[in-house]
Amino acid sequence: MDMNDFQSVRGMRDLLPEEAEGLEEIIAKAKRVASLYGYRQIITPVVESYELLNAKSGEEIRSRMFVFEDLGQRKIVLRPEFTASIARLITTPLKNEPKPLRIFSVGSVYRYDEPQRGRYREFWQSNFELIGSNMPEADAEVVLLTNRLMKDAGLRNYEFKLGHVGILRAILSQYGINEQRQNAVLQKMDKKEFDAALGLVENKDCRKILEGLISLKKNEPPSAEPSSIVGEIEKHVKGCKEASDALKNLSDILNLLNKGGCSIKTVDPAFARGLDYYTGMIFEVYIPELDIALGGGGRYNKLVEAFKGEPTAAVGVAHGLDRIALAKQLQDKMKKTAIQEKRGRKKRVLVTSISDAVKGKALEISEELRKAGVETEFEVMGRKMSRALEDADKRKMDYAVIVGERELKEGKVVVRNLTKREQAAVPLEELTRKIKGKS
Ligand code: AMP
Repeated sequence: MDMNDFQSVRGMRDLLPEEAEGLEEIIAKAKRVASLYGYRQIITPVVESYELLNAKSGEEIRSRMFVFEDLGQRKIVLRPEFTASIARLITTPLKNEPKPLRIFSVGSVYRYDEPQRGRYREFWQSNFELIGSNMPEADAEVVLLTNRLMKDAGLRNYEFKLGHVGILRAILSQYGINEQRQNAVLQKMDKKEFDAALGLVENKDCRKILEGLISLKKNEPPSAEPSSIVGEIEKHVKGCKEASDALKNLSDILNLLNKGGCSIKTVDPAFARGLDYYTGMIFEVYIPELDIALGGGGRYNKLVEAFKGEPTAAVGVAHGLDRIALAKQLQDKMKKTAIQEKRGRKKRVLVTSISDAVKGKALEISEELRKAGVETEFEVMGRKMSRALEDADKRKMDYAVIVGERELKEGKVVVRNLTKREQAAVPLEELTRKIKGKS
């Protein structure tokens, strides 16, 4: 086999420095949002038992898991999401933690999706779970923290879409449709296969209500106020007490979001998400430049129960961090990328020595610079000064620090500004200030 025959596995990506930095930046923002909202991080394994995921992950995810046997013949999976791992913790070691419990995780997840732009087989998620509250303020919180992440990531014109599976389930229940059939209907609606969804509903009156809700979405003017849509939905569900209660809950959440400064573009009563355990408000967030969601979540009061725990109110969200990084890249296309902008502010420095005799001192100076937070590369190729400087120039570094015996005797080094192409001897104690302070 020729070396050129080695390729990464289909759907897997190598993130080269620029892309890796872009993703890292979003990860750092997600961690910051977690702290700001009081979510504490937990770290769970990348592999989980097949039984755990098979127990209750939705069919959608279950059919696309990476499953294999380890050397001890255990059937294991690469986690396709965080939620099952969190449910495992909530039903065992975190069972008696006081509520509300706010948990954050970030890491890679694996799904056998068809690779395309923004869809990978290994991708990164930040996952927020708020356990133990059934109040609308808990639902609002996971939307608001998503709003904060979008804003902090520097995205423009992002839009939220909200729905409430509680309304749909209440209508289906009223007409005696059992939970299993409800899940099948919601899965079809999730895929926008509305005719197929209606085909699963035998009762004519029930079908009529659902048709009404589906048509609401189609006829809705793009600028319709969320409150006016709530009024429209009300007309369709007023005969069903439970559905009206669910609608009131949706309306309460919308009001809280409004207070929290998060405007909702679309309220869609026919919006469903594939996972069986959703019970209430659901949402997704998009940018106009991409037709795939950057994040999504909702209330799943049945989640913990599904994993054999006590019935527990829970609401959560997962953000697709690769997609957020991609969205940022797309929106920045016309400008310099965010990373380049950052580069422009943060100075990068090459440290090189004129002779072997002062190489050790040069290394010492490099470490001093790094200690002061300056991004510093040390000349490790043993190149002539001119070659090393040429290379630093090509790689758009900002300064070269040249360490020579003559200047060292006076306690100085030469600092060359590679953009301005000028240089001066600088006393060692002023070096950091000189590099950090001026451009
Ligand atoms: P889900 O757990 O399916 O609700 O997904 C949460 C978020 O993860 C989605 O909104 C996407 O942003 C992201 N996501 C899901 N599948 C993929 C994928 N195959 N590649 C990249 N991101 C994904």
